[in-house]
Amino acid sequence: MPIYQTSGFQFEDPAVFADGMTRPDGAFVYGRYSNPTVRSLEEAVARLEGGTAAVAAASGMGAINTVLLGLLQPGDHVIAQHALYGGTAHVLDDLTERFGIQVSYVAEDDPAAVREAVRPETKLLYLETIANPMTQVADLPAMCAAAREAGLTTVVDNTFASPILCRPIEHGADIVVHSTTKYLSGHADILGGIAVFADDALYRKVWSYSCALGTTPDPFAAWLTLRGMQTLALRMERHCANARVLADRLAGHPAVVAVHWPGLPGHPSYDVAAKLLPDFGGVLSFDVAGGRPAGERFMSAVRLALLAPSLGGVETLILHPASTSHRHLDDAQLAQAGIGAGTVRVAIGIEHAEDLWADFEQALG
Ligand SMILES: *Cc1c(COP(=O)(O)O)cnc(C)c1O
Repeated sequence: MPIYQTSGFQFEDPAVFADGMTRPDGAFVYGRYSNPTVRSLEEAVARLEGGTAAVAAASGMGAINTVLLGLLQPGDHVIAQHALYGGTAHVLDDLTERFGIQVSYVAEDDPAAVREAVRPETKLLYLETIANPMTQVADLPAMCAAAREAGLTTVVDNTFASPILCRPIEHGADIVVHSTTKYLSGHADILGGIAVFADDALYRKVWSYSCALGTTPDPFAAWLTLRGMQTLALRMERHCANARVLADRLAGHPAVVAVHWPGLPGHPSYDVAAKLLPDFGGVLSFDVAGGRPAGERFMSAVRLALLAPSLGGVETLILHPASTSHRHLDDAQLAQAGIGAGTVRVAIGIEHAEDLWADFEQALG
């Protein structure tokens, strides 16, 4: 796919020009509406997720905001799972404070709580396939079915699973969002996001709003994402295999109190995950014995893993949720989320598993 590095397109027929501004499947007119390189990415991710069409954005938050702002209005009510990506939690708080959109929170595996939370003004159920950083897995078939009975639109953030591990539309989701910054692009060199739609009418509504909001990605970022996606399946295989090795060995290490990875039988989501996912993803968290100071010592002792935000690239990254991604939570909220003062989150890369374990083992030592 070439990189159409242009802001606009030239026409011979004024009618074709005018028509292209009104719908996503007309001629390419202006980069904020659509671009051939970006469209190629949208079609590829829509096919991977089993959707009809997609709207790409300049970041994951760009895609999430385009969907939420494109579909909600003041007075609406949203049901969301407790464990949410920090940026999304912030946006929902803001929608409540400034736009009067109420949000009720439920557990990601509790369809009865969804039924109970539904009000006449409820519009949307918001879920994440695998949540950050404790890796809870949403019971998508049961949760989407409860939402469908109530006529809600279900949005699923599938960033941590990628379409290799889960295609939420197959389980009843209406819209799937991704931070393509992560596994889809795969090399930690771009920011991007995308929303995939099961339904054409929802797609057109959100596309039209995205043109106004201006969350459009740059064609080069879209091209790099397409380029990265060519190895997505292979990378996911290695991410998951490495995660299995580290999870098992960390669980058996005397300096580790707990390991949180849905592929371990003791994880609260193990049963849901084993039914829903062919493998369990490349993100895990663990608690070092000795709490925060021990966690901090571990983080400054690693040599191969990098102390850095994000996930889904080829390198292993670690961070301390309590002081970074979840710094907005107080101690009670951290405890409620199951995040310890010494919890370390690991976004596992595609290095050799033995090199990674050697690094973790020396750092734990
Ligand atoms: C990173 C991330 C986002 C936000 O994506 P950006 O590309 O950073 O804007 C949203 N959801 C999840 C699960 C993420 O990991």
